[in-house]
Amino acid sequence: MSNLRLPSIDSLLRHPACRPLAERYGREALLASLRQLLDDLRGPVQLGELDAFEITPEVLAGRVGERLIAQHRSHVRRVFNLTGTVLHTNLGRALLPKEAIDAVHMAARYPINLEFDLHSGKRGDRDDLIEGLIRELTGAEAVTVVNNNAAAVLLTLNSLGARKEGIISRGELIEIGGAFRIPDIMARAGVKLVEVGTTNRTHARDYEAVIGLRSGLIMRVHASNYAISGFTTSVPTAELAELAHKHALPLLEDLGSGSLLDLTRWGLPAEPTVRQALLDGADIVTFSGDKLLGGPQAGLIVGRKDLIAKIKKNPLKRALRVDKLTLAALEAVLGLYRDPDRLAERLPSLRLLTRPQADILAQAERLQPVLARVLGEGWSVSAVPALGMIGSGSQPVARLPSAALCLRPVVSKRLRGRSLHGLEAAFRALPIPVLGRIDDDGLWLDLRQLDDEAAWLAQLDQFKGRAG
Ligand SMILES: *Cc1c(COP(=O)(O)O)cnc(C)c1O
Repeated sequence: MSNLRLPSIDSLLRHPACRPLAERYGREALLASLRQLLDDLRGPVQLGELDAFEITPEVLAGRVGERLIAQHRSHVRRVFNLTGTVLHTNLGRALLPKEAIDAVHMAARYPINLEFDLHSGKRGDRDDLIEGLIRELTGAEAVTVVNNNAAAVLLTLNSLGARKEGIISRGELIEIGGAFRIPDIMARAGVKLVEVGTTNRTHARDYEAVIGLRSGLIMRVHASNYAISGFTTSVPTAELAELAHKHALPLLEDLGSGSLLDLTRWGLPAEPTVRQALLDGADIVTFSGDKLLGGPQAGLIVGRKDLIAKIKKNPLKRALRVDKLTLAALEAVLGLYRDPDRLAERLPSLRLLTRPQADILAQAERLQPVLARVLGEGWSVSAVPALGMIGSGSQPVARLPSAALCLRPVVSKRLRGRSLHGLEAAFRALPIPVLGRIDDDGLWLDLRQLDDEAAWLAQLDQFKGRAG
């Protein structure tokens, strides 16, 4: 037992060391935090585990301050995505261009004509704000927008195929990260799944064989995050559309990422375009706003006017609709597509995807000595070519030639794994967490997406001594 006593709550609240905390976080939060700290210390004090200098009002104020900072830190944090995956679903996918950020700011700050027709003075439809632009960019007759592409698929299936059969190739019954599985979505949409063909090969005659009175639609799904190669066959959109139309069925094509323009003009792998899918005869095409399009999270549904009208009448549409901030951002991003020549400068996702490898390697070589100095003797740091990915299910097999800083511990193989994970955790604990990837006994920091070099360098100082 010890006769040391903790200061009272009242005396601490009145103490000058606590005053700035009360001003910053409010009296209630300070009080709650002080109570908790004193509760935590009561036991150790009684057991004589603490000395008088460890429980002075100044020291206690310091400790409460640390707790308050930790509690009040925002949970939504900026990070450096040096994983090599550009459109990283877990890191928020596409970065918005300045034009979209300005539009979001305006829509957040002021009332807008979200569902108000300024021409007639009557109630409007929020889809009207972006319909013209999407029709222009895709050649579609009509358009509607929902919260994400998963919602677009669910809504379309439910609107066009409920209580009927949806015909789809076995090779397209895919699962996309985050528990989006085509068979489950079909079931939730009330569509009876009829699978045809085999995993690797499906022919037109396989579809034809099951078409009957209960058929409601034919669906085609972009395989996204996996690829089948070898002895494979699938029916192209044009041929499948012809077959569907012969039997008066709509063809629904889920492009996943999709693209508004042919990406090969920027040297990127070919990805099906929305316009081409419609030209080939797909009646409805669905795709994401925040994958290759480079905009906000959204699901775009485009195609035949009568079918879009039916989709818009579904009460589920109201539950899945987009908000004003998304619409503002989407319109601004789509606007940039009107000038394809400048798109790669203005749209961050395309700018990052098309950054030349030589440029990234030069940056890696420039930063290599800086990082080597910070990490010290225990680590080897090399600037090396690396392979990144587009991400978000676009082109799962294609690799983007990039460059990275590769960090390897200079220790015995036995200790290597442990120190590597320690280093990875230390980068993750920085004020702006740095996220890389561990591979082949090294921590790889792919620099394709490091454009704020100053902020990255500034926090490396704090890193000294922690990397051990
Ligand atoms: C990504 C993807 C989806 C889901 O899109 P979200 O916008 O993430 O909801 C659906 N279908 C395919 C084929 C996809 O690649």
